[in-house]
Amino acid sequence: MLTKEVYEQSRLRAINYLERAGVVITDAEKNEIQVAEYNMDDIENIGLELVVYVNTERCCAKELVLFPGQTCPEHRHPPVGNEQGKEETFRCRYGEVYLYLPAEDSAALSGDAPSGYEDFFTCTKRIVLRPGEQYTIPPDTLHWFRSGPEGAVVSEFSTRSRDEFDVYTDPRISASQARTV
Ligand code: ZN
Repeated sequence: MLTKEVYEQSRLRAINYLERAGVVITDAEKNEIQVAEYNMDDIENIGLELVVYVNTERCCAKELVLFPGQTCPEHRHPPVGNEQGKEETFRCRYGEVYLYLPAEDSAALSGDAPSGYEDFFTCTKRIVLRPGEQYTIPPDTLHWFRSGPEGAVVSEFSTRSRDEFDVYTDPRISASQARTV
């Protein structure tokens, strides 16, 4: 459960990271920063902060902030009706972000999941994104990501975001309640 106090602390901290990244947002957007804690009550490890710029029936753009070590839990964006699942491009603006995708072979990295959550992080292929680097995740592909030691600011460009249909590996996370990316 996200308390008002934790929300406000996280919101102010996120504004600071956006400033470090040189990302300018309006006062109205500062007041509408969302804090996702995925109902896990462990926001230092599982969580992120986000500003939604646009989300229409066709496209979506967000700014994501991850404090040092914060992780977005593993999920995928499945097809909905006749629409393919959401396609996402992540572009790092500040710090480092480690993006994990399904491994093609058993030689992939492993053991990077947040401590205590290992069963729910199956993707082990790691892609490191530094400022100016980006990666596009195809629809319906499992993925998760975490920030490096300095935290991270990441721009997300995607097709329509429909959080309620997202599928999480951890059954404790309910898509209908989670703010997702
Ligand atoms: Zn996603």
